[in-house]
Amino acid sequence: MVETYRVRFAPSPTGPLHIGGARSALFNYLLARKSGGQFVVRIEDTDLERSSKESEVNIFESLKWLGLDADESIMDGGDYGPYRQTERLDIYKKYADQLLAEGKAYYCFCSEEEIEAERAAAMEKGEMPMYSGKCRNLTPEQQQELLAQGKKPVIRLHVPHGEKLVVDDAVRGVVTFESDGVGDFVIVKSDGIPTYNFAVVVDDYLMKISHVIRAEEHLSNTPRQIAVYHALGWDVPKFAHISLILGEDRKKMSKRHGATSVTQYEKLGYLPEAVFNFLALLGWSPGGEDEIMTKEEIIEKFSLDAVSKSPAVFDMEKLKWLNGHYIRQSSIERLVGLAIPYLQSEGYLQEQVTEADKQWVTLIMQALQEKIHTINDIGEFMPLFVGEDITIEDDEAKEVLADPDVPTVINAFKAKLAELPEWNADDVKKIFKAISKETGLKGKKVFMPIRVALTGQMHGPDLHFIIPVLGPELVEKRLQKTVNL
Ligand code: GLU
Repeated sequence: MVETYRVRFAPSPTGPLHIGGARSALFNYLLARKSGGQFVVRIEDTDLERSSKESEVNIFESLKWLGLDADESIMDGGDYGPYRQTERLDIYKKYADQLLAEGKAYYCFCSEEEIEAERAAAMEKGEMPMYSGKCRNLTPEQQQELLAQGKKPVIRLHVPHGEKLVVDDAVRGVVTFESDGVGDFVIVKSDGIPTYNFAVVVDDYLMKISHVIRAEEHLSNTPRQIAVYHALGWDVPKFAHISLILGEDRKKMSKRHGATSVTQYEKLGYLPEAVFNFLALLGWSPGGEDEIMTKEEIIEKFSLDAVSKSPAVFDMEKLKWLNGHYIRQSSIERLVGLAIPYLQSEGYLQEQVTEADKQWVTLIMQALQEKIHTINDIGEFMPLFVGEDITIEDDEAKEVLADPDVPTVINAFKAKLAELPEWNADDVKKIFKAISKETGLKGKKVFMPIRVALTGQMHGPDLHFIIPVLGPELVEKRLQKTVNL
């Protein structure tokens, strides 16, 4: 029987959804969908200063754009809520109080300065800084006295000595940590807010999470979390820590490498299914087969067994290639819808888009569908389609126009165009054959003069697509200017 994955994505809303976070969300989502389990999205906003509503909104919009719909979340509700940690403070308090009552946690009144001094001393001796455990031995009377003085303690977990904290990791295998290297860490801060390592355990347990699948950088937190599970007498879930994403220079993916958030990729003209497919391949491989897969195929084939321990390299060229593939698979209507906002932002279209504008963009997208890798790539082709003035690109192009047959070709071309009731790609295409027949000139001798005279360039999208975009007026004006005909 296939294991059922009840998994979660637990972002801290301290910025837009990062590409690495999206990959973690995706792996969780895939396993939930594959196994008929649930995908829970929990907002971990206990860092009050850095968390924002704006980031929360961005995270949900990005997940939605990628098609990673949650079964339970602050938006979707669910039986295990609330799904935002700041709405669960009473729950954490209950378990912190329980640990205090059982002597498994204790109040610590040490000031930040004291802790800092201890830290510095340890560092100087080349030792790992760790809390000395000083407040562990305070008597109830001493505690009462300090509380009465108005001191605000933190709560620390009493981590037993000499224990092995074992992470059985589906990606990295068994990783063993010594409890002596962990030390008594803070589970509730002096303002009553739980720390990540405490809240995450309470939530994963109460939300009945079966597998904790997250980024490798959290592996070092896992022994602390296991210590909390042990203290509370709870079974530990299964873990999977997925590898870092590196840039092509093999350094950790950061802003230096380009876009890092999902929203940025959307704005750059990537399609969600391309990003989905690409992210799935960051650390996972379907094994030698075609890497272009639909969402359904990825869900069917995905498994943690095939997730690599080695870091994944973010290959921008591959993402572009995949995106180009999905652009070619898209309907023209969809591409038009995506191109319009881009063309508006670049000043090619007004705020108000008319039917004629849509028709114009449709013709442009017909011309470019095979040529572009991202929607925004249309920018580099736009000079082909607008304006009367064009530059003849180089000497080679000038030579094409100097051929003595050029006037014959262009005149025949103009005459044929004039006979066309409507300028569409199919009918324009037929003109070239007719010109060949009429003039006795073949292939390139017909195409090239027309191409250079209309665009100034030797290469580009198919002419029968460009000509309908230009329309009679621009064709006329450009021919006048370039070949004086
Ligand atoms: N809130 C943590 C983060 O965003 C989640 C870690 C986890 O998945 O346990 O990094």
